Amino acid sequence: MKEWDLVIVGGGPAGLSAGIYGARARLQTLIVEKLACGGQAATTHRIGNYPGFARGIKGPELMEQMEKQAQSQGVEVLYAEAKGLRSESSGYVLLTDGEEIKSKALIIATGTTPNPLGVPGEGEFRGRGVSYCATCDGAFFQGKDVVVVGGGNSAAEGALFMTRFARKVYVVHRRDQLRATKILQEFLASHSKIELLWNKVVKEIQGETFVERVLLADTKGGEDLAIDASGVFVYIGNSPNSEWIKSHVEVDERGYIITDERMRTSLPGVFAAGDVRRTPLRQVVTAVADGAVAAVEADAYLGGIL
Ligand code: NAP
Repeated sequence: MKEWDLVIVGGGPAGLSAGIYGARARLQTLIVEKLACGGQAATTHRIGNYPGFARGIKGPELMEQMEKQAQSQGVEVLYAEAKGLRSESSGYVLLTDGEEIKSKALIIATGTTPNPLGVPGEGEFRGRGVSYCATCDGAFFQGKDVVVVGGGNSAAEGALFMTRFARKVYVVHRRDQLRATKILQEFLASHSKIELLWNKVVKEIQGETFVERVLLADTKGGEDLAIDASGVFVYIGNSPNSEWIKSHVEVDERGYIITDERMRTSLPGVFAAGDVRRTPLRQVVTAVADGAVAAVEADAYLGGIL
């Protein structure tokens, strides 16, 4: 079995950045990616806050460039899903749904997955009106009315993106104040196609074959409200993809991996970077910074400096 110097699990911004830094340190570097490189950033229509792009850049384009940059530095990519880890005297063996992969050091950059609403109809209409990605599915809703659930940056961006296609976009939020950054709040408030529905939560998603109606409950004890809509875009936060590793490294109560400022986990030679890590800010810019730190620290670990 080939032994890698550095295996990075996850090919989003954190993983690709770690790959670039790892390869440039001349470490034999492999990225293990479940689906396709790019992570959630690749499903973002336009990224307006990544420095260096004055007019913003399309998420898929930025991530394609990052992937090309990593591969041009010599990073290899293997498509497999990480399932677990085994310690050996010389390092670690990553267990996947395919082969076992041996490495001296590891960086976990598996990101997060969108949380489901957990209401009747959500599972039934998934892919038939219920979506977690406006950028991916938005174009199917040309001229239709849609509901976007959540009050964070993802919900705000999803709602704004949907105004390109939808006739009307309802934003359903459980409080009377958005969590999204002020600039996005201003865009939402001033858009003629967007209507904000405050203090509401989704109770049920109804329809025959496709979504036809969304039943909302009032969090202040008011009456239920039924909205006729063909689409429901769910943006109520995310959970870390750490199930597969959390028996090996310290995680917080929500499953985010705890690291120090050098991205070191509780396991020597295992680092974590990006959204899967407990961190105060989850952005592309912080993920790529985490990845760089993790790779430099992994190099120091392998050189016996740590
Ligand atoms: P988030 O910031 O955690 O927001 C989740 C939203 O969903 C909150 O408004 C929350 O309400 C609501 N919510 C949570 N559970 C709910 C439930 N069970 N029912 C109804 N509503 C519920 O998540 P996010 O928007 O996906 O963003 C994730 C991270 O990525 C954040 O750090 C965000 O800043 C970052 N991000 C940044 C950008 C950007 O900078 N442009 C874009 C996208 C994402 P409360 O407000 O009441 O808690």
